[in-house]
Amino acid sequence: MGLSPSSPVRDIDPRVAGRRVGLKEKGPPAFEVLEEHGIATVRQLLHHYPRRYIDRTTVVPIRALRPGQEATVIAGVRGVRRRMTRRRQSMVTVTLYDRTGTIDITFFNQPWTERIYREGMELAVSGTVQVYARRLQLAKPEVEILRAEAEQVHTGRITPVHPATEGITTRTIRELVFRALERIPELPDPLPREVVGPEDLASHDWAVRRIHFPEDDGELTRARERLKFDELFTLELGVAFRKHRVEAGTSGVAHEPAGPLAGGFAGSLPFELTTGQRGAMAEIAEAMARPRPMNLLLQGDVGSGKTVVALHAAMVAVQSGHQAAIMAPTEVLAGQHHRKVRELLEPLGARPFLDVPGATGSPPEQPSLLDAGEPDRAEPPLTFALLTAQVTGKDRRRVLEGVESGEVDLLVGTHALVQEAVTFRDLSLAVIDEQHRFGVHQRIALKGKGAAGAPDVLIMTATPIPRTLALTYYGDLDVAVLDELPAGRQPIETRVARTALERNAAYDLVRREVQAGRQAYVVCAAIDEENRLEVRAAEKEADRLATEVFPDLRVAVLHGRMRPADKDSRMEEFRGGLVDVLISTTVIEVGVDVPNATVMLVENAERFGLAQLHQLRGRIGRGAHRSSCILCDEAGPENEVARERLAAMVRTTDGFELADDDLRLRGEGTLFDVKQSGMPDLKLARLAEDLELVKRARAR
Ligand code: ADP
Ligand code: MG
Repeated sequence: MGLSPSSPVRDIDPRVAGRRVGLKEKGPPAFEVLEEHGIATVRQLLHHYPRRYIDRTTVVPIRALRPGQEATVIAGVRGVRRRMTRRRQSMVTVTLYDRTGTIDITFFNQPWTERIYREGMELAVSGTVQVYARRLQLAKPEVEILRAEAEQVHTGRITPVHPATEGITTRTIRELVFRALERIPELPDPLPREVVGPEDLASHDWAVRRIHFPEDDGELTRARERLKFDELFTLELGVAFRKHRVEAGTSGVAHEPAGPLAGGFAGSLPFELTTGQRGAMAEIAEAMARPRPMNLLLQGDVGSGKTVVALHAAMVAVQSGHQAAIMAPTEVLAGQHHRKVRELLEPLGARPFLDVPGATGSPPEQPSLLDAGEPDRAEPPLTFALLTAQVTGKDRRRVLEGVESGEVDLLVGTHALVQEAVTFRDLSLAVIDEQHRFGVHQRIALKGKGAAGAPDVLIMTATPIPRTLALTYYGDLDVAVLDELPAGRQPIETRVARTALERNAAYDLVRREVQAGRQAYVVCAAIDEENRLEVRAAEKEADRLATEVFPDLRVAVLHGRMRPADKDSRMEEFRGGLVDVLISTTVIEVGVDVPNATVMLVENAERFGLAQLHQLRGRIGRGAHRSSCILCDEAGPENEVARERLAAMVRTTDGFELADDDLRLRGEGTLFDVKQSGMPDLKLARLAEDLELVKRARAR
C-alpha cells in the first residue's frame, strides 16, 4: 500500500499509469510518456506543479453568458455529434449542459474528438462566447476533462491543470498525482529545521499536497511560498558556495586608469564615441582602479557598441602591466573580436603576437622587404593573440607559451581560454561577451585564472537582466548601461510574411538589396528532434533557395554541424562581400557584425523566442543603409503566443521592451536559457517577482 518518493510512476496505479491517449488510443502508456519527459519517479511527478487552476466558484453559469465574453464554464457532456460540412471537413459538435442552459463547442478536422468526449463527462471549457445558428457556442475552446463518468477522484472547489503534452492529458496527470498523494505517508522535508523553523513557512509535505489540490487561494499562496523558498534556498546555497570558493582570501588589482594606451584609444577610433560609451568607459576604469575585484555587468542593446568599451578596459589592464582576456561564446565571434582588435588597436602600435619577431618560440628572424622600411623595431606597446579550437599545432604552443610568459598582453578566444592548459602570467581583466551563452562554471573558471588577486570581471550582454536575477546570479555586481545606439543608424523596418505573396515579396526585396550592393541573411530553424518533419532544415532550404529562388545570386550556407574552420571561412567570405546571401541556422544569432548586411529573413519565425529574434534582427541595421527584417510565420492562427511575439517584434526594436514582453509571455527561463547556463531549474520562483523571498533565502 505504501509508496515512497522514489517509487516509479508506474506503481502509483496501474489503471491510470497504463492509460493510453491520443490518436486511436494506440500510443504508449502514460507512465512511459512521463518518463520520456523526465518524470520517472513519484518525487518527480509531485514536483510537476499545475500550470493553472480552475476555480469552480468563479465559473459562469451558461444562462449568464453574453456574446463576446471570454468565459469558463463547467458542464456535463450531453451529446456528441459528428458530420461533414459542405466543404467536406469533419465537424464534431459537443453539447454541454449545466442545469442553467446548453452550449456547444465545435471541433473542425479533428475527428478523433468524437471519441474523446463522452456523455456524462464533466468538462471545464474556456473560450469566447458566440451565437451561431441561434445557438450559443464557445469558440476557440480550451477544454479540460474534469471527470469521466463514475470516476472517483478529487472534485474540490479548485481543480488543478497540470502541464501536459502529446500522449498524456492533464486529467491523467491529475489522477496520478491524486493517487500518489493518497498513498504516500509523509514527504520528508528537504531543508533542515534550523533553516525553515524561524521562517513562518508551511511544512514541505503540506505545501506539496496543497499546491496540487488547494482548498482556496490562501492555501495556494502559502504552498507556493514554501516551495519557492525551497528552490531559492538551494539556488542561493549553490551561488554562495561558488563565490566562497573563488573569492576566499583574494583581493583585487588596483589598475592605473590614466595612461598612454587608454588615453590614445578614443582618439584613434574611426568614429565618435557615444555619450553612453564614454560614460561606461569612465565607470569601468574607475572600478578597475579600486583595489577590490570588479564585477561589472555592461548591458547594451544589440549594436550599441559594447566591444569598443571592452577594448578600452583591456587597454587599462595592459598599460598597468597586466594581461587581459576576452572570451566569446562562439568561434565566429572570437574571430570577429580578434579582427576588431587588430583593426582598432594597430593604429596604437599593437601587433599580433605571432607576427612579433623574437617572441617566445618564434621562427628565426628573416629579413623581409616589407619590414625593411619600418624604422621602429622596438617592442610594440601591446601584443594580442587568438586562441580557439582552430589554433593548433605550433601556433597554439607558441600562444600558450606567450600567455604564460606574459608576452601576450591581450588574449581573445572561446571557452578554450578556460581549459587547464592555459596559464596566464598575470591576468587582471577577464571580459566575457554575451554572457547568457556561458555557464556559471565557465565564468568562474576564467575568474580563477588570475595569478595574484582575483581579476576584474566585465560581463557584456545584450539581454537585459532584471536586478534581482543579477543579484543572485552574480552576487555583488555593478551594472553599467549603454542606452543609445551610435549616431547615423537607420531604423529597421520589420514585417511578418504569412502568405505566398508576402514571401515572394520578401525574396524580391533580397534580390533588390543585393543588386544595390547589399547582403542578406536567411535564418532557418535548426533541425529539431521533436518536429523534424515540420521544420525547414537549413540545408534543404539552402538548396531550394540557391537553385530555385536565387539561382542568380551567390549563396552560402552556415550551420552548427559544420567544422569550425569551415564556418569561419564562410563567414569570412560573407564579410568580404564574396557571398550575397548567407543561409544559416542560429549560429549567427549573437554578435556577428557585418554592416553591409541589410536584410534578415527568418523562416519559421514562430519557432523562435523573442530574445533570439531580437538578437537575429540585431545583425542588421549596423551600417548607414536602411535595413529590413522579415519574419516568415507558418504558425496557424491558433498559436496565439507566437503571433503575439511576432507582433511585439513589429511594434518595437527596443530590447528592454521586448524583454518585458518575453517575461510576460513565457517567463524567465527562455530569456536566460536556464538549462544552458547551469542555473538550477526554477519551477515556481520568478526571481524578478520574488525579491522579498530571495532576500530571505539569501539571509539564511
Ligand atoms: P554590440 O554591442 O552588439 O556588441 P558592437 O560592439 O559589435 O555591438 O558594435 C557594432 C558596430 O558598431 C561595430 O561595427 C562597431 O565598430 C560600430 N561602432 C561601435 N561604436 C560606434 C560609434 N560610437 N559610432 C559608430 N560606430 C560604432
Ligand atoms: Mg557584441
